[in-house]
Amino acid sequence: MSDHARSRRFIATSTVLVALAIASCSTKDNAASETGDLAFVNARVYTVSEQLPWADAVVIRGDTIIYVGNEDGASKMIGESTEVRDLGAKLLLPGFIDAHAHPVAGGAYATALSLDTWGMVDEWVEAIADYAEANTEAPVLFGYGFLATTFGPVGPTRQLIDAIVSDKPVLIMDEGFHAAWANTAALDALNITQDTSDPVPGYSYYKRDENGNATGYLLEGTAGLAMDTLDVITADIVIEGTGIIVDIMNSYGVTAAFDAGMIETGDVNSVKHILDSLEESGELTMRLVGSSRPETQEQYLTAVDTADLWRNELKGERYHYNTLKIPDDGTVEGRTAAMFEDYQGEPGNSGETVFTEEQMTHMITDAASRDMDVHVHALGERAIHETLNAIEAAREAHPDSETRYAICHVQVITDQDVPRFAQLDVMAQSTPLWSSYDTYGEQFVSEDQFQRFWRFKSLEDAGARLTFGSDFPASGAGTLGLSPIVQIEMGHTRQEFGAPEAPVQPRESERLSVESLVRGFTIDAAYQLHMEDEIGSIEVGKKADLVVLDQDIFEVDAYDIHKTGVVLTVMDGDVVYEADITETEE
Ligand SMILES: [Zn+2]
Repeated sequence: MSDHARSRRFIATSTVLVALAIASCSTKDNAASETGDLAFVNARVYTVSEQLPWADAVVIRGDTIIYVGNEDGASKMIGESTEVRDLGAKLLLPGFIDAHAHPVAGGAYATALSLDTWGMVDEWVEAIADYAEANTEAPVLFGYGFLATTFGPVGPTRQLIDAIVSDKPVLIMDEGFHAAWANTAALDALNITQDTSDPVPGYSYYKRDENGNATGYLLEGTAGLAMDTLDVITADIVIEGTGIIVDIMNSYGVTAAFDAGMIETGDVNSVKHILDSLEESGELTMRLVGSSRPETQEQYLTAVDTADLWRNELKGERYHYNTLKIPDDGTVEGRTAAMFEDYQGEPGNSGETVFTEEQMTHMITDAASRDMDVHVHALGERAIHETLNAIEAAREAHPDSETRYAICHVQVITDQDVPRFAQLDVMAQSTPLWSSYDTYGEQFVSEDQFQRFWRFKSLEDAGARLTFGSDFPASGAGTLGLSPIVQIEMGHTRQEFGAPEAPVQPRESERLSVESLVRGFTIDAAYQLHMEDEIGSIEVGKKADLVVLDQDIFEVDAYDIHKTGVVLTVMDGDVVYEADITETEE
């Protein structure tokens, strides 16, 4: 039987869904339209689809999956021009979706100095000295990655950097991009004097010594302001760097991401220029769903209009912006996450929300009236509680809205608020990489709060949808944070990866199954992106975004999951990453 006749018979006996997918598929060559361009056979396909969780073969044509099933069925879709890849029983999954990252803003840092977050102060100073020596032409030295708590309550000081670089500004962001460490030349360039006022005293401020002089430790908004003023990021740096980051994400099997926002303030035209440049050069080998966010409390009245403008202006083939991002508090390490209790040893400081509950309700209700998705940064139990209240009000005001709601990070949640995520259909978005034993965070919170860190399983059991992402470049693990594989192991063990002896982050009962973590990196993340009809599972008619792994993460020892290598990443039907064969052979 000719391929043509075989395919005709297949169509006659196949489901309506398959026929529809084929009919709607645009092909260059009609004569070959019933066979695939690329077929994966002898695979262990975990589809993340409830109808058919496991399969042996996948056939794709163009950018679309046209067959999922057994070898027999696949053979009917294979023609002379079909490239057939025998996967040797390797695991094939939907391409991973990073539900919260800053790949474009992170691109700005791809060529910057990256400090080892878990290093010592001496090592950081030495790394700054080395970077200065390697970048003598740079007018400003810029880096990131230190852990502020390593310096104790005083924080990092300008004198430490002055001793090695005093002739030009040096600005280093902390691991969470919530603080900066500057030398005296940078403070001079920023014109920070004894008279400079703090934008939000106690939250966004310049740390000062007993004489009122800035020490070189800049917190929250002042850190971002310093980056803007010193112009450490240009469009060309971002375009070059984002291309590098997308390649790294592809190498970890990531084929789509939610862009949780530019870290520096970018106007809509500069963002468009960056994304269009990447798309035109073919470097955007990943789908991107983006967001716009208010930078200050005053912008609460205009934030939704701005997000609407971004939604209208920022549309490419592989990217679009549809989300209002609201940063509502800080971090536990910075003691800026909004809690119901004071931080340990800091009477009167229970953290701050950026917006009042009324302002949150105003923004979120307005977004709901425009069917705009909402993504709120809230780590502290009080910020989370107020955000849920605001979402409840928005749901009541606009019950038919298409808006989808996510609260990101969700570090500390009260017992009473756990079931509200499911009741209000609010996604809990988080980063499993952070769920190993947190000796730093532990000292700032009560024992009761520490027992309520990262309540993933409680949320799942209550019926909430969980989505996972890297928060790169704020992951705290450099580009390794971009690996969903490493994240999956840590969400499963709540320990350092590869360390069965390491302490488990309480509560141990919050460990998730590997299946749940995969869902959070695939179909549930696709739901958050409002793209679950197109991506997130391996089903006929969906986009051909796939990843092949070199071991079965459902079968291997939990502490070996992080060793899993990505063999192949396919996006829109194209191979966008392929491991060096010598690396993957036994
Ligand atoms: Zn983030």
